[in-house]
Amino acid sequence: MGRAVGIDLGTTNSEVAIVENGQPRILPDESGDLILPSCVGFDDQGKLVVGREALRQYAAAPERTVRSIKRWMGTDHTTTLRVGGLASEETKDFSPQEISAIILRTLKQRAETALGEAVTEAVITVPAYFTDAQRQATKQAGEIAGLNVLQIINEPTAAALTYDIRSEETERVLVYDLGGGTFDVSVVEITGAVTEVLASHGNNRLGGDDFDRRLELHLADRFRQLNDADLPEDPLVQARLLQAAEQVKIALSANAFTPVREAYLGTKGATALHLETEVARKDFEDLIRPLLTETLEAIDRALADAQLKPEDLDRVILVGGSTRIPLVQEMVADHLGQRPVDGVQPDLCVALGAALQAGVLVGEEVESILVDVVPHSLGISVVQDTPFGLLPGFFSVIIPRNSVIPISRSEVYSTAADNQEAVEIEVFQGENQIAEENVPLGAYKVENLPLRPAGGVAIEVHFDFDINGILTVTSTEKGSNQSASLVINNAGVQKLSSQELKQAREDLDSLFGEETEAEDAESAAFDAELAAAMTQAQGILDNLEAEKAEELRELMSALEEAAGAGDGEKLGQLQGELTDFLYYLDSEEA
Ligand code: AMP
Repeated sequence: MGRAVGIDLGTTNSEVAIVENGQPRILPDESGDLILPSCVGFDDQGKLVVGREALRQYAAAPERTVRSIKRWMGTDHTTTLRVGGLASEETKDFSPQEISAIILRTLKQRAETALGEAVTEAVITVPAYFTDAQRQATKQAGEIAGLNVLQIINEPTAAALTYDIRSEETERVLVYDLGGGTFDVSVVEITGAVTEVLASHGNNRLGGDDFDRRLELHLADRFRQLNDADLPEDPLVQARLLQAAEQVKIALSANAFTPVREAYLGTKGATALHLETEVARKDFEDLIRPLLTETLEAIDRALADAQLKPEDLDRVILVGGSTRIPLVQEMVADHLGQRPVDGVQPDLCVALGAALQAGVLVGEEVESILVDVVPHSLGISVVQDTPFGLLPGFFSVIIPRNSVIPISRSEVYSTAADNQEAVEIEVFQGENQIAEENVPLGAYKVENLPLRPAGGVAIEVHFDFDINGILTVTSTEKGSNQSASLVINNAGVQKLSSQELKQAREDLDSLFGEETEAEDAESAAFDAELAAAMTQAQGILDNLEAEKAEELRELMSALEEAAGAGDGEKLGQLQGELTDFLYYLDSEEA
């Protein structure tokens, strides 16, 4: 196996890293940029643009650009983008996996250029609260991008890997991750080499983007006060103001005041109106404090779930670009009674941790080893014999929480009623005895059971939880060995067949302007076949009766026209007609 990279596929930004001499490092692009904005678009020539270039056009051309696709992972949401040049109305639909695959492919290329070798193996991170479907979608995006996804790991776990823990004592670490679009807090327990997520809470609709929007409204108010006029409703003006707001926010992380100068935002009569003002850090802090208070509540919930008090925490780690805001650092420190650790790079540590894990998996000399655990108990809903008779809806745990992954476990259950023809296998995750109080993961039916008295049919239910946190359930009716299985897939991520995967990869290749080898070979064979058929047709034209000759001439000129227009579909269809025509003449002669 070659070298393997670690990838942080973020809502706002993504990075790729590798381990060298036991140390992880972020791989930059050719201009030295470490961060790739998670933004994809098509420019007004219809060319694919990814990263900063896509982000730059976002405000002016939102119909050609998409960002924050991570919020849709694991759903059947489609993004429709204008993909043609300026004069073209052409659009194309993309699944969240396909957009993510474009980002991953760009990172793969970045790594290949930086390392001077092909890169196919990767570890990709996801938020700890990602469901199974969201993890599957992430894995699929990697596959479409041409990556072999060695493992999907949790972002807070990856972040925790980047700082050395040498002691064999158990350390309890709180990872507070506030990015552009999402917030995630996890309590992680690290014992030597084993990192375990004890509890995790999050809000995938809270982040730096919300701070930008609050500041944007504040700037619009300032504009109104200064100019005694409303800001125009023009989307381009709004987009400029939002961009200005983000710049102000970032500047205020380093300075107590920052100037804002946006010229020509509107007009009053013949006078151009500008926004020229200064924003104090304190004003910005007042705007975002209520949102940050919500994050403190999530910390409390995560601690309660982990049955820990703030003083039980050995360390606090901050992750995500928005934790560069001084007020965030201050509020978290005050709330937990300890300062977050220094020296962890908030926007890079997830990718660095993923690279460490990737290094471990391909056998590099790396100090930290991640042994992840099942974060929630997994089981099924069963009928239970109680003092009140048989009652349905009890949660029977098959894989207990905290089991080290990968893990496989089986339990045997029997039918509850006489002549029961079918059983419903309903899978849940959680810790409550009542199945419905836990999170449903999926369900399916085992049918055509032999008709026997209650308890007479035994069904073995086998759970297989892999290193990516993906669960496969198989149930086997013991008498007949008849089995049925389910890969937990509750939010509509269909597994791609090998043909679909090949197609998705080829689509991606053509977006990146690369013809696949298979396509090259295919189109060369097609060209040769077509040339042979045209020569044969030309040769027999003079010997044909007038009506047939006319028909053949028309077909040949239609073919030339389609070839000239580069219309592959039409060309294929007409070539089929020409071959049939020639075959028909041949068989008539014979
Ligand atoms: P992430 O998703 O972790 O890449 O974080 C991206 C978010 O961090 C965006 O909302 C950025 O505007 C924000 N961000 C980046 N740098 C800073 C900074 N120095 N101060 C405040 N916010 C920042």
